[in-house]
Amino acid sequence: MASITLSNLTKFFQKHCAVDHINLEVADGELIALLGPSGCGKTTTLRMLAGFFAPDEGQILVSDRLVSSPQKVVPPEKRNMSMIFQSYAIWPHKTVFENVVFGLELRNIGREQRQVQVNRALEIVHLGKLANRYPAELSGGQQQRVALARAIVVEPDIMLLDEPLSNLDASLRDEMRNEIRNLHNQTGLTTVYVTHDQREALVLADRIVVLCNGMIQQVGTAEEIYERPTTEFVGRFIGHCNVLSGTLLPSGQIKLAGGLFIVSDNLALGVTSGEEVAVMIRPHAISMSSIDVSADSSKTNCFMARVEDHLYYGESRNYTVRLENSDVRLNVTTAPHIFHAVGEQVYLKMSAQFCRVVPSSIKTTLPATQRSLPRVS
Ligand code: ATP
Repeated sequence: MASITLSNLTKFFQKHCAVDHINLEVADGELIALLGPSGCGKTTTLRMLAGFFAPDEGQILVSDRLVSSPQKVVPPEKRNMSMIFQSYAIWPHKTVFENVVFGLELRNIGREQRQVQVNRALEIVHLGKLANRYPAELSGGQQQRVALARAIVVEPDIMLLDEPLSNLDASLRDEMRNEIRNLHNQTGLTTVYVTHDQREALVLADRIVVLCNGMIQQVGTAEEIYERPTTEFVGRFIGHCNVLSGTLLPSGQIKLAGGLFIVSDNLALGVTSGEEVAVMIRPHAISMSSIDVSADSSKTNCFMARVEDHLYYGESRNYTVRLENSDVRLNVTTAPHIFHAVGEQVYLKMSAQFCRVVPSSIKTTLPATQRSLPRVS
């Protein structure tokens, strides 16, 4: 068992800074997900942890042992870490048993003990009955389990997983995600899990580290990251989000373009009055009705809007609405039985607690696939 400390960890490739002064503490037995878009430095961080790359600055401690610094890198085989790759990297010409036992043979473990450890690892991943099969006789999920068994059989201190489920189809991925979580609960191994899939990170990890351009944007539990993003990037990257540009007034109101005002009781730390801000609202956090429910209550955060478009997803409907007398467009998710026709006038209510306000920053560039909702101002 082991904790991990990354201090100022930095890696350059020529002049490009792939990992930029990262500081992170991973507790003994914790499952941490490194999450971010392609090229944000996840794999480079993991490879430094594994000992494949030396850092250019900073250091890595495992418990109290220095394992990486610009001057010293303990080689991968001396770190007692197991790494699982995207391609499971299992040998096609060896049986399940032979694949799993290999790491123990390298460590000169005796025959009887090898048998005990392999059997135990195969039981944990539910492959006990398939020990004599060859990889070609296994499904994709079973092959991934061989990789998991091979990783745990050597009883490592730390598990490193690099997008281990990306070669599986969607339903198998869900199943294996749960298995990895169960495996972690059983073994209690300190685990670092690299993924660009937000759902995977939300479901699996004790804490998520969101990376962008080699830097940590936020570290937190799934709820903290999803409900209280500290930057615009995190809000946009994790799930769908409407983002409204505005200015925070001394009164506490946020002035949006077109003379609209919104109130929030969910301000990120460091947001100060007079500053340009981004107001972030999840589509399902906006309530929409044909009746003006604000008539006999407060008008705060109530807006008239017109339906411009809607999509039916079976379990929900997604509306695009435009606020009256403005160019501000919002996405609103409702239950599937709530229907409003295109062109219909609707009333929106945005509860102040769901209007998350963060400092404005559109410097970070998202890949096209993450730009599903327009920035409106
Ligand atoms: P992906 O999700 O696509 O695997 P990632 O977040 O894991 O991306 P990294 O593989 O860590 O990103 O790469 C970070 C940056 O460093 C990228 O800009 C990448 O092009 C660059 N990079 C990574 N490895 C090398 C290398 N060996 N030589 C030069 N540049 C590299």
